[in-house]
Amino acid sequence: MTRDTRYDILFEPVKIGPVTAPSRFYQVPHCNGMGYRHPERHAAMRGIKAEGGWGVVCTEEVEIHPSSEISPSIEGRIWDASDIAYHRLMTDAVHAHGALAGIELVYNGFHAPNRETRLPPMAPTAMPVAAYDPVHARAMDRRDIQDLRRWYREAALRAKEAGFDIVYVYAGHSMSVLMHFMQARFNQRTDDYGGALENRVRLTKEVLSEAKDAVGDSCAIAFRFSVEEMIGTAGITSDGEGQDIVGMLAELPDLWDVTVSGWANDTVTARFEPSEGYQDKHTAFVKSLTTKPVVGVGRFTSVDGMVARIRGGVLDFIGAARPSIADPFLPKKIREGRVDEIRECIGCNICVTGDMQSVPIRCTQNPTMGEERRRGWHPERIAAKVSDDPVLIVGAGPAGLECALQLGKRGYPVTVAESGLEVGGRLNWESQLPGMASYRRVREYREGLLRQMANVEIYLDSALNADAVLAFQFPHVILATGSSWRRDGTGRQHQREIPGLAQRQILTPDDLMGGDVPAGKVAIFDDDHYIMGGLIAELLAGLGAQVTLITPAPLASHWTENTMEQKRIQKRLLEKEVTIVANHDLLSIDSNELETACVFTGKRRDLAADALVLVTARNADDQLHQELRGRADEFTTAGIKSLTAIGDCLAPGTVASAVYLGHLAARNLEGEPWDAGLFNRG
Ligand code: ADP
Ligand code: SF4
Repeated sequence: MTRDTRYDILFEPVKIGPVTAPSRFYQVPHCNGMGYRHPERHAAMRGIKAEGGWGVVCTEEVEIHPSSEISPSIEGRIWDASDIAYHRLMTDAVHAHGALAGIELVYNGFHAPNRETRLPPMAPTAMPVAAYDPVHARAMDRRDIQDLRRWYREAALRAKEAGFDIVYVYAGHSMSVLMHFMQARFNQRTDDYGGALENRVRLTKEVLSEAKDAVGDSCAIAFRFSVEEMIGTAGITSDGEGQDIVGMLAELPDLWDVTVSGWANDTVTARFEPSEGYQDKHTAFVKSLTTKPVVGVGRFTSVDGMVARIRGGVLDFIGAARPSIADPFLPKKIREGRVDEIRECIGCNICVTGDMQSVPIRCTQNPTMGEERRRGWHPERIAAKVSDDPVLIVGAGPAGLECALQLGKRGYPVTVAESGLEVGGRLNWESQLPGMASYRRVREYREGLLRQMANVEIYLDSALNADAVLAFQFPHVILATGSSWRRDGTGRQHQREIPGLAQRQILTPDDLMGGDVPAGKVAIFDDDHYIMGGLIAELLAGLGAQVTLITPAPLASHWTENTMEQKRIQKRLLEKEVTIVANHDLLSIDSNELETACVFTGKRRDLAADALVLVTARNADDQLHQELRGRADEFTTAGIKSLTAIGDCLAPGTVASAVYLGHLAARNLEGEPWDAGLFNRG
């Protein structure tokens, strides 16, 4: 295939100070939960991005000194010379594919509670740290400022020795002491590092100049800066101090990497910011104030949109964290005219949950992310089939579709039987919930490729029972039959049915999907804590119901703190006048009222409701699996060699988990057991 010549501009080399990027595709720094703890795994992941055509591949934030560390988050460290060797693993992996390697050096200021090193953090002004740890940062004196400048310089020299081509000075997301010095609300100093903006920028200017002096002969100095904090004039704004700062430092760095702040605004989910390029309105001015190349992000996956940004003078580099996670081969697919094969990010932020929970990164769309070394999974390559044995997959939700796609790539003859009239399973309804349209991409990417595979057949409207499966005589049977929401209220809070359920009609998300939409006073009991309870509250409030969300957790959709959505969800629900009854259990139900109780005191509170929606837990739809297992003595006659359950019918979870389990089963068919590779712990 040949690429559209309009896209050639994306493959132009671009000079950044003393180095040259081979293309305009730029993987900006992003966290990944591997960092210093799993350096080989980290290097393998970054190397695959370079192989996939990213012209620049950067680290996550890398701490320059032990007096500023954010454990238990697993970031990078370049505290001393002993860290150089592990960084070299990454620079070698990136250079092997002709890309440039960048390192984001950070000193976190009051963002770092120093839980591991137990040293008092430092900040421009004495203040409590940003987390709720009972820790205060102390105000930096002149000696501390001298030390910090030296640490930056020394870290830059170590970075150069480790083989990095681009060395970052980081002043973004309110996570860097340099930004804290620039933010008037955090810098209340009266010396020449405080007060007027020129003074507040002084330290950044010094660090940038000194990094350039130290390594600028062979390394480019990149400056990552958040031009807009989205809190109005209380913070840096892109039409106020953000512009002034860019103007003051315009030609000092070799490259500008510009974002909005905080991280939850920069990496916003598609539910709250559906359009690509949502940062343009804040960052587009930067190019008019500097001759140096500018990189910016905005969940870019549309190739025409990328070209328009370069041609329109908005950006010089197409920056990406999430689009490069969802598809490390995005640039190569564009280069080779295979745009239809791009696995587009859905903006769900499951990738962020890895960092939040201090485990290696995972991705809904790309199940190989984080598994490049541990399991040896490559996002584009998979072992050829072991035999010509045909495979039957029952169910075409995310698990069945991913499994079919990978088995199809392996060359197996695959038959998919789906009881519904379209493929997609849970995605079809969930993507109709408010803000969830992007989830359709999970289906569309896979369906599009499957339809082109001569060795894969998909049968719709084809519910299979055990007799049918046995009669078809497929050597390998994979069940991906999904799950259903429980209607007995059991879940985390209740291990037995909630008393009184028989007295009134109970609804679950599946009933709403079937068109049974309650009105009037509707109570939702959310003991699931991910997105579903909040989504249903938002949906019903939007349809005019008076909604009360009862949750034993302190916050609505509590787990979404890990996707950085929680505050936005709570705000939206409150704006839609949803009453949130937090820290309350649903004890019992009668025909008129719901009896709830405070989870701390047990104090009762009755609530009137016309309808009750239970969002507590899901049952695996594993009847077919159980029946077939019970008839294992018929397998030989039926020619069945293996029977595997995947996705929600094995254990209900996220879409990411269903895709992952589908992928795992496809990799392992006629090969390794599922637990192979789990202990490759580098
Ligand atoms: P997962 O997230 O594990 O992929 P989903 O619930 O999204 O699960 O998808 C399961 C799919 O399996 C649904 O599309 C459902 O219609 C289909 N399905 C369930 N039982 C059967 C069956 N017995 N025969 C064929 N298809 C089935
Ligand atoms: Fe995009 Fe979701 Fe993958 Fe993150 S986890 S890269 S948001 S698809």
